[in-house]
Amino acid sequence: MPIYDNQNIFAKILRGEIPNNTVYEDDYVLAFRDIAPQAPVHILVIPKGAYVSIDDFGAKGSPDEVSAFYKAIATITAQEGLTDAGFRCIANTGDHGGQEVPHFHMHILGGEPVGPMVSKS
Ligand code: AMP
Repeated sequence: MPIYDNQNIFAKILRGEIPNNTVYEDDYVLAFRDIAPQAPVHILVIPKGAYVSIDDFGAKGSPDEVSAFYKAIATITAQEGLTDAGFRCIANTGDHGGQEVPHFHMHILGGEPVGPMVSKS
């Protein structure tokens, strides 16, 4: 597991060093709009703890952190009106997963059909 880099952009957002467009926050979770949206609704949900990836979070996150994370996704998708039509959650992980920011984040994409699950190009 890579060592957590506390200079990554989401760590800076969590410290308030750069702005974000927050849609949800609680003691364990922050969610904000992606700066380069790939769908009409594109939100990033991140734990406030220092976790590199979904597997790091699953292995080391406390029950309260993990529970809060999934509860937040339910709250946000309802708040954004996505639950009837559906949406996609993506957690890009590591090199093969195309992860760019090394702080665990779940993308929520919706507001229109979001296309095939995996690009074949
Ligand atoms: P990933 O490739 O899964 O690591 O996704 C990283 C995401 O972070 C991309 O969709 C970026 O558009 C998004 N992103 C990068 N910087 C910011 C920022 N300052 N505020 C909001 N989203 C960002």
